[in-house]
Amino acid sequence: MDLPLLRQLCEASGPPGAEDRVRALVRERLAAVADRVDDLAMGCIDGVRAPDGEAAGRLMLAAHMDEIGLMVTHVDDRGFVKFIPLGGWDARTLVGQRVLVHGRRDLVGIVGSTPVHLLDEAARSKAPKMEDLTIDLGLPGEQAQELVRAGDVASRVRDLAEVGDLVSGKALDDRVGVYVMLEGLRAAGPSPMEVHATATAQEEVGLRGARTAAHRIAPDIAVAIDTCPADDGPGTPSSGPSTRLGEGAAIRVMDASAIGHRGLVDLLIALAEERDIPHQLHVSNKGGTDTASLQLSGRGAIAGCISIPTRYVHTSVEACHPDDIDAAVALTAALIEQAHRLLAPA
Ligand SMILES: [Zn+2]
Repeated sequence: MDLPLLRQLCEASGPPGAEDRVRALVRERLAAVADRVDDLAMGCIDGVRAPDGEAAGRLMLAAHMDEIGLMVTHVDDRGFVKFIPLGGWDARTLVGQRVLVHGRRDLVGIVGSTPVHLLDEAARSKAPKMEDLTIDLGLPGEQAQELVRAGDVASRVRDLAEVGDLVSGKALDDRVGVYVMLEGLRAAGPSPMEVHATATAQEEVGLRGARTAAHRIAPDIAVAIDTCPADDGPGTPSSGPSTRLGEGAAIRVMDASAIGHRGLVDLLIALAEERDIPHQLHVSNKGGTDTASLQLSGRGAIAGCISIPTRYVHTSVEACHPDDIDAAVALTAALIEQAHRLLAPA
């Protein structure tokens, strides 16, 4: 695994609708593995690789660049910043964090809470809500109001760290998917299909960028690459269909947003078996990915999802296993080379 690349991707800022920083990084990397890179209207970028020979349809890969973030609603007279969430936050995980507020310049902020000494028994047992939280910029009110205004966004600050056998940090959802897409395209041999590697925008607020990108690309086969919640962390079910860290790339059969195309699921399983790629199945009635937008775009596409099992999704300590990341890269490369099998006449 290319840890420096994953680190660069994860540590870059990219709240929904403000993906410019991570996009600049991804563009540079895409340009190195694609024949051309197209900028799409909503902020997605599409790395296009020409087919080997006459085109046998279009394959679209999609991984989202955006991460959950915050949008400023108000800066009060004391300089405290109020905000609304961009994407699915658990307020408990934001308390005690450092954030970067993208105002007239970048400002480090802290999300504090009332000290435990000052809380009575009842208040101590209550979980905080997003609307109760505040960013403290450590600046006088007037200066904070000059530098930050409503509509500015903020992102989390967290290094990617090696923790035992795992890597952990913020925005592995879905920079690990972007990494897998980039490395998969780099590793893949020729494909008879025109391949589109699309880094999408605004996934966390409703799979928005992917919808317009798929409409433009009109793929025959479309595969999202995203994290899936692993079931092997504390507090998660220990039985039933589950994914575990270190047990391979996850082939997503179903979630709350989409049912994977049967033939595509079978092809991914077959490719993993043919190439000895460790793999597992993700079956759930919760969560969703860009797959839903890809599948329903235009006249519809044969769609599915390759996932990377992840603990603590949507916190600042999301964790993945490098072996699973490598397996997902290998499976993505295999798919690029072989997806056309799905289109061959029976
Ligand atoms: Zn995601």
